Amino acid sequence: MKEKRTKNLFVVAIVIIVTTCFIEYSYALFSETSESKPIVDSKMTFEEAIAGTQAPQELIDKLVLLDVEYYSTDKRLHAGQIVVHQDVAEDVKTIFQLIKETRFPVAKAVPIVKYAWSDDASMNNNNCSAFNYRFVAGTERLSNHAFGKAVDINPRFNPVIYESGKISPKGAAYDPKREGTFHKDCPIYKKFIELGWRWGGDFISFKDYHHFDKK
Ligand SMILES: [Zn+2]
Repeated sequence: MKEKRTKNLFVVAIVIIVTTCFIEYSYALFSETSESKPIVDSKMTFEEAIAGTQAPQELIDKLVLLDVEYYSTDKRLHAGQIVVHQDVAEDVKTIFQLIKETRFPVAKAVPIVKYAWSDDASMNNNNCSAFNYRFVAGTERLSNHAFGKAVDINPRFNPVIYESGKISPKGAAYDPKREGTFHKDCPIYKKFIELGWRWGGDFISFKDYHHFDKK
């Protein structure tokens, strides 16, 4: 009888130890995954991301919606999205891999439909965007953004500076020493150039520091 009780106690003790270990292990696993889980900036369907665009259907058929991850200005991992032409999708994926690896801060990446297709509103919000069926600002010429072959990143850190000295977005300033800014030593700039892209910071008549495009 005594022997049976001891055996029962032993079994109970084993069950308690195993359960405790299991709970602790699950908790550790859970906190690890919840910590590395990105903050979601955008999670649209393709239809949502192009809703209301004036682009012709044959162009829409060539667009893809990419899920991208980046560390934002809060130093935390975020998940955003970007609409690009299928011909540059691999390049943009490569660029965002490097952005994530090097922790080059990207404020946010949300398809511009969220800003009612307003480039000004998107720039003001320091948003990264690509496809937008629109003219080059101040002209009636279709921008490379209209084909999803241009990408704008951190416009508030990398504004447009016109010859007149006017800056867009309003109130922004270009300080190449600031994190998230493009300049000739920036590895993201170098990778874009290596992949055959053009940088708006190399334009002669005006500077568009947040802009990269590929013909
Ligand atoms: Zn641009």
